[in-house]
Amino acid sequence: MIDLQDVSKSYAAGIPAVNNINLHIDKGEFVFIVGDSGAGKSTIIKMMLKELEPTSGKIVINGKNLARLKRRKVPMLRRDIGVVFQDFRLLKDRNVYENVAFAQRVVETPVKIIRRRVPAMLSMVGLAEKYRSYPKELSGGEQQRVALARALVNNPPILLADEPTGNLDPKNSWEIMKLLEEINNRGTTVIVVTHNREVVDAMQKRVVTIRKGVIVSDERKGGYIYED
Ligand code: ADP
Repeated sequence: MIDLQDVSKSYAAGIPAVNNINLHIDKGEFVFIVGDSGAGKSTIIKMMLKELEPTSGKIVINGKNLARLKRRKVPMLRRDIGVVFQDFRLLKDRNVYENVAFAQRVVETPVKIIRRRVPAMLSMVGLAEKYRSYPKELSGGEQQRVALARALVNNPPILLADEPTGNLDPKNSWEIMKLLEEINNRGTTVIVVTHNREVVDAMQKRVVTIRKGVIVSDERKGGYIYED
């Protein structure tokens, strides 16, 4: 499903930001990628989304070798990977329904399907009643749930969450994690990049730890590995 083979990325001369990483993630897995600030997590994500090219190595996502993927085909990759971010990135001047529908309009989904799919996604994230609200009328946890509905509305096989609980209190963080677990149970491969130790320890999922651009551990069912 996701394969990084001997992947390195150097921004400038010196130690690479990502240094010869090998990572394989199977369909249906739930994986945390953890590491302190500067470890190389964002660089890895950006390469998986083809926002950045690796200096060397090979990345295969859902059968597609990203090096061979033409620029104009990059939007297709976004159909394979739904993404949510720490800062939600909702459209402020659109209501909840429009924020989710927008992701479908971009890929030219027929209106009939949008009308069916948007409410289904909003009820999955527990926000069916708030479809007319604007982002500023929602709590952080609710905004993140809208972002999740938007990321999943095109039914991507992979969900990538970049620090999804970074702006949330513990209660909301926990609710988002439970939702991610449910999404995973329905068959979506889920990758969560975070440094939220409590969440990682509590979930007991696969944990890949990055330090200075290198994978220093990959635990099947683990907690956050603490720095000395
Ligand atoms: P993380 O997401 O784990 O905080 P990053 O992938 O952002 O780590 O950064 C990894 C390393 O690469 C850091 O040393 C950072 O300073 C460096 N880096 C990140 N982006 C750039 C860039 N655009 N130009 C130069 N160096 C960068």
